Amino acid sequence: MQDFAGIRIGLGHDTHRLEPGGPLILGGVRIEHDRHAVGHSDADVLLHAITDALLGAADLGDIGEMFPNTDEANRGRCSREMLDLAFAKVREGGYSILNMDCVVFAQRPRLLPYRNQIRQSIAGILRVEPHQIGLKGKTGEGVDAVGNQQAIAAQCVALLIAHT
Ligand code: MG
Repeated sequence: MQDFAGIRIGLGHDTHRLEPGGPLILGGVRIEHDRHAVGHSDADVLLHAITDALLGAADLGDIGEMFPNTDEANRGRCSREMLDLAFAKVREGGYSILNMDCVVFAQRPRLLPYRNQIRQSIAGILRVEPHQIGLKGKTGEGVDAVGNQQAIAAQCVALLIAHT
């Protein structure tokens, strides 16, 4: 199948429960906070959404297929390492990142003070420039799981271009 101009889009979404006690790990950055995300790995919700967006764009399945939570090797696994391994497959598949745009849904903490640090962290893992990584924070308006600080969620859209 011929893709238009070799450009492909991918979408990733992830949610994790929050429990008392920090720190919160977001985009590979440790944030001092009174809650942490719970998961089989280190529960970095933003890196998981990015990993799924990249795998989806390159037609390489998803993070759950690549790193099953039934595999003890993945317990407490560093999400930076998972993203690095997934993106290596994307590159081997012949793609580079044009840009991505991400949203983190969290009532607290506010994302803005950490935004540049997180963009640099993600750009470092993917070996791209921070201006290629869009990042926004949204609260849950005090309702539902995000608004009540029971959960944190993230979304990412990623645009890939085939190597020429
Ligand atoms: Mg996850």
